[in-house]
Amino acid sequence: MEKRDFDAIVVGSGPNGLAAAITMQQQGLSVLLLEGKESIGGGLRTAELTQPGFLHDICSAIHPMAAASPLFKSLPLSLHGLEFIYPKVSAAHPLDDGSVGVLHQSLEETAQGLGLDQNAYLKLFRPILKDWPGLVKEILAPLHIPAKPFALAGFGLKALLPATILAKMFKTEQARGLWAGMAAHAIQPLTNVSTAAIGLVLMAASHAKGWPLPKGGSVAIAQALASYFTSLGGKIQTDFMVSSLSQLPSSHAVLFDLTPKQILKIAGHEFSGTYKKQLQGYRYGMGVFKMDWALNEPIPFKNSACRAAGTVHLGNTLAEITASEQLSSTGKHPDKPFVLLAQQSLFDSTRAPAGKHTAWAYCHVPNNSDKDMSTTIEQQVERYAPGFRDIILDRHVMNAQQIESYNPNYIGGDINGGIADIGQLFTRPALRASPYRTSKKGLYICSSSTPPGGGVHGMCGYHAARRALKDIFNINLKLLIDTV
Ligand SMILES: Cc1cc2nc3c(=O)[nH]c(=O)nc-3n(C[C@H](O)[C@H](O)[C@H](O)COP(=O)(O)OP(=O)(O)OC[C@H]3O[C@@H](n4cnc5c(N)ncnc54)[C@H](O)[C@@H]3O)c2cc1C
Repeated sequence: MEKRDFDAIVVGSGPNGLAAAITMQQQGLSVLLLEGKESIGGGLRTAELTQPGFLHDICSAIHPMAAASPLFKSLPLSLHGLEFIYPKVSAAHPLDDGSVGVLHQSLEETAQGLGLDQNAYLKLFRPILKDWPGLVKEILAPLHIPAKPFALAGFGLKALLPATILAKMFKTEQARGLWAGMAAHAIQPLTNVSTAAIGLVLMAASHAKGWPLPKGGSVAIAQALASYFTSLGGKIQTDFMVSSLSQLPSSHAVLFDLTPKQILKIAGHEFSGTYKKQLQGYRYGMGVFKMDWALNEPIPFKNSACRAAGTVHLGNTLAEITASEQLSSTGKHPDKPFVLLAQQSLFDSTRAPAGKHTAWAYCHVPNNSDKDMSTTIEQQVERYAPGFRDIILDRHVMNAQQIESYNPNYIGGDINGGIADIGQLFTRPALRASPYRTSKKGLYICSSSTPPGGGVHGMCGYHAARRALKDIFNINLKLLIDTV
């Protein structure tokens, strides 16, 4: 091959950019990872957003998908400083009547806690968990012919349902509320086809392994990935915001850990008319409003399960969550939004000064919203934890527009790199033989705008790198599906 400055360049150092860079560097190529901001990590940064000594996860906080990731499991990340902490109660979902739905690590304990729905819960999850190790590798991949078609088909038939339809399996408000909170991670109306998928995956991931948080903050995942990458000889340059291909050193391949909107600006002139149109038609979903608190003490949840949970979902019943997700997807701001809250300092004493605590939360809002939802979110916490406002030392907030200013990948505050509805679940960012290839030879997309989509798992980056390795470097990397 003709000599270039680097074999490959990856633009953007989120989990997928890091994963792509590692996958190529592992093959002995020379890889440069470029990051526009002063520090690496994308959705994996942690900072003292409120007061000194309080470490807040700016974006992602809880990592079931990182723990389940076939790529991350194959890397020596603990040797590079990553330590996952697994709360025994993955998530709690309190209701107004004082009862609670609880997602434990244990399948049986979770089912038992759901009373009348014990059998329905076991019937739903036992088959999924039986096939989980194989299934998770199939799910975290682009469309392909599955190794275990029957297992995948069994899962797929349930996953394709709207969450509101699958909810009919359950009789109790506790099970239905718990289920709705899980499915609402889809960031879509729960009546949409395939919104059951994310709920099933998140609950199965809890029973298979748990919902961990990294000691020291989510940044620890980025640091471990970067440390491993540089130990292989990879190069990282920060403060390098790419706005044109002409800024880049020469290379055989460029992989963008960016979404279609930015890639069109940087490289659109290189694409075919058809591909350009496809990317222009790519759709983004709802945004988020994000809050972090420095607290004088742990959140005084009325329900003890909530005081023991890594994550607490605040939104009451299936009906209420369905209504609030529907409202924000149609451009309105709900008075009682579904709030996802994490309380990392309960499990990781490095997050706050002795005796003090942190909490992290967000709710879904219309794309590009600039509305301040802080009072509304705090009302939702106060609803289940009277006295919460009295323990707040300080707060930090980001509306959907500020989320995008913070990270240009979060278009209008969309944290999934584009809506993952049925039209874009498998074919993001465009319907093509390989979703990672652009129409220009040597240019690839490796961000969460490609399959399998949002979340911290690195599998978009891994699969994109695999594609580039084959196309450009004639390296046929054996699928992790076969090896892990
Ligand atoms: C508030 C919030 C909460 C979340 N919670 C969770 C959670 O608990 N668990 C979970 O699994 N996921 C969560 N996520 C989602 C998760 O963070 C993303 O899905 C994930 O980070 C996507 O990874 P990525 O590598 O595709 O892109 P990103 O992580 O967005 O990384 C892209 C990188 O590219 C850089 N960049 C952008 N443009 C340029 C340019 N032109 N030149 C150079 N660099 C550029 C950015 O600065 C960024 O570092 C959350 C996200 C947010 C915002």
